Amino acid sequence: MSHANLLDDALTRLDEAAAHLNVDPDVIEKLKFARETTKVRLMIRMDDGARKSFIAWRCRYDDTRGPTKGGIRFHPSATVDEVETLAFWMTFKCAVMNLPYGGGKGAVQVDPRALSKSELERLSRAYMQAFARIIGPDRDIPAPDVYTNAMIMGWMADEYAQIVGRAEPAVITGKPLALGGSLGRNDATARGGYYLVQHLAGDLGLNRPMRVVIQGFGNAGQYMAQLLAADGHKIVGASDSSGAVGCASGLDVDALLAAKAAGRSLVSTIGHGGHETLTPEALIGLGCDLLVPAALENMIDESNAATVKAKLILELANGPVTPEADAILAKKGAIVLPDILANAGGVTVSYFEWVQSRQGYYWTLEEIHERLRSTMEREGRAVWNIAHDKNVSMRTAAYVHALGRLAEAIEAHGTQSFFVS
Ligand code: GLU
Repeated sequence: MSHANLLDDALTRLDEAAAHLNVDPDVIEKLKFARETTKVRLMIRMDDGARKSFIAWRCRYDDTRGPTKGGIRFHPSATVDEVETLAFWMTFKCAVMNLPYGGGKGAVQVDPRALSKSELERLSRAYMQAFARIIGPDRDIPAPDVYTNAMIMGWMADEYAQIVGRAEPAVITGKPLALGGSLGRNDATARGGYYLVQHLAGDLGLNRPMRVVIQGFGNAGQYMAQLLAADGHKIVGASDSSGAVGCASGLDVDALLAAKAAGRSLVSTIGHGGHETLTPEALIGLGCDLLVPAALENMIDESNAATVKAKLILELANGPVTPEADAILAKKGAIVLPDILANAGGVTVSYFEWVQSRQGYYWTLEEIHERLRSTMEREGRAVWNIAHDKNVSMRTAAYVHALGRLAEAIEAHGTQSFFVS
């Protein structure tokens, strides 16, 4: 996958938003470039005794509103452009949700499935050793992302504690519960999106039950399937990296979850309860009410956007819809609930975890859910109102909402007009 134009595409969204706000040129100059991107080569000893190196990055895109925040991705096709783009999105995501953070992101170019468990631990610890200088509870706070998980966060937190010589659980979020993690962090990305859809269901004229397609069955996709199925909605199609399955009367979500838990692909459930095989293209074009891209960037682009039948798209992945696809979907009258709002439940509960880790006092699951719900509803409603007041898409509205907050913070240091007048 090429990521060369990913940041350019992302910046077009900044320009669109800026056209609706009267922001000082200083603001755009500040948000157009990543502040700091560090590249290293992680060296680890493999199980066969050989030394191997992996390229890794950490980007702190902007820290005007607080310490930079964002996950670490382990993926064979990670690139520096992708990391900077993801860090840009985090900057806007944290501003949409009014979290006191800037945006950051990290990645290792590696296929973690090709590593043994011990190699994975060594690689995770090597990442923290390499970046401990720029990471910190008041500086830059990582979290899980694609192909990283709670155990990896636990290894990294432990490595950081050893480097600084004291426990510092607020250095990273998405940790295991037993190591100072938060209740409700595991399903937070999906749950935030679910609360958003529930809140806007009346405005969007959604029917019950909805027919839902979930593209990508990792952490976010699996919990989304579970939450929606428990609410009586039908999951009519789903996919993972090995292929797609469909069932017009609704897939057996428990069977899908059991397959993943056993390390099998979704395709292994074909034949069970009417599960049929689908091509990835057919999945995107499947008749449904709600399409949930929950995998990687650029999954809906100009080549397949016209085939989408869903009237509502909820972006649980980061950047799954290209600007060209946005235009095609808008023409068809489809509404896209954009990533920087729709998947912000993850970083929102990460923020709750950071607060709890700092104060050493932990909240109940009910408190987490209630705070997540009210944050999603408050910011979701604000974005909805901007979209209607300005007659723009939900994506542009989310960027306008975030840019307003970023601009206020940047302008509070003084702008060109302040200094020359
Ligand atoms: N990786 C997630 C995201 O893209 C979560 C980031 C975090 O919790 O800091 O939003």
